[in-house]
Amino acid sequence: MVNYTDYFSASYEVARRTFRNAVKAVDGELSAYLHPDARGAHGEKLTIDVGHIGRIDAPRQLIMISGTHGLEGFAGSALQIGWLKQLSARALNDEVGVLLIHGLNPYGFSHGSRTTVNGVDLNRNFIDHTAVPVTNALYAQLHPYLLPQWWDDNYRSACDIGIMDFRLKYGDDVYFNTFAGGQYLYPQGTCFGGFSREWESLTLERVVRTAVGHAERVAVIDWHTGIGEYGKPFYLNFGSADSEAQQHTAGWWGLDTGTGSRPHGRAQPRYQGLVFQGIESFLPQAIVAGGVIEFGTRGSVAGDLAIRQDLWLRNYGHRLSEDTRTQMHADLLDSLNPVSYQWREQVLTLGLPIIDATLDGLARWQA
Ligand SMILES: [Zn+2]
Repeated sequence: MVNYTDYFSASYEVARRTFRNAVKAVDGELSAYLHPDARGAHGEKLTIDVGHIGRIDAPRQLIMISGTHGLEGFAGSALQIGWLKQLSARALNDEVGVLLIHGLNPYGFSHGSRTTVNGVDLNRNFIDHTAVPVTNALYAQLHPYLLPQWWDDNYRSACDIGIMDFRLKYGDDVYFNTFAGGQYLYPQGTCFGGFSREWESLTLERVVRTAVGHAERVAVIDWHTGIGEYGKPFYLNFGSADSEAQQHTAGWWGLDTGTGSRPHGRAQPRYQGLVFQGIESFLPQAIVAGGVIEFGTRGSVAGDLAIRQDLWLRNYGHRLSEDTRTQMHADLLDSLNPVSYQWREQVLTLGLPIIDATLDGLARWQA
């Protein structure tokens, strides 16, 4: 039985403070990286906080991240804090180290948005922006329908018709790949990967290279919310099914192959610029396993709508009365970080054993 309020926080500020205290309580190595040009929703400073626990020089390391998508960080933060608090009651296997990255996108975490201060989806930002641009050929056709001028029935149903036409013409898998795979031309659009690497992305590179650059075997858990059934974990893995890393991941997480999961029932998009792909490139000497673990919120209706609602509020929210804007924002928060105690307890009850299983597997993973 877990008391979810011991681990979940109601704000970025409290989450950050609780995380830092929990790292100190287990004598972890603690550092913080200050956002150079943004402040939080309450004027507070924004930092990416990093805890390194256990044998920091061990050849096997777990990297566990919260807040890649800002407000989705409440669940990931709770799992990091829950794991740390339980750790204080027992020992960590001395074969492994654990690098905890708290609030990778602290701006979005504090302001209740998925994206960075620049409107960038950080989980599409880890590409070489100086190389040949990534193409998302059909995105231009879809873009006009994603952000209605007003978030009301008239404008939204006109857009919904455009989106439905696109889906009928190309099919649901192509639609989802276009919507979610990543695009690099429309800053107001969905899953915009930026024109250059974001501060958060460069900071993660610095932290990973410095802290675990020596590691030979690395597991990644990047916690997210919004895909999957209510309160259930949903796994997104990005390696080829027959790779060593993928087979280990599948074993730890109880998956058939570890690949081919279908977010919202659709084929997995050809994601560009993922945090996971970034970490692989920062650690060329290591085999990197793991991936993204989501916790479902409102089932299949959550994902696309939450992304669009977030963008709409960021771009056009000022057009609304304060009361309407407040209600819409509360709905967005609840759609990716449900208030219900049932959801929060289930995230902890199901999520904490996944961390233990990953660490057990990592400790047994022989070179
Ligand atoms: Zn996410």
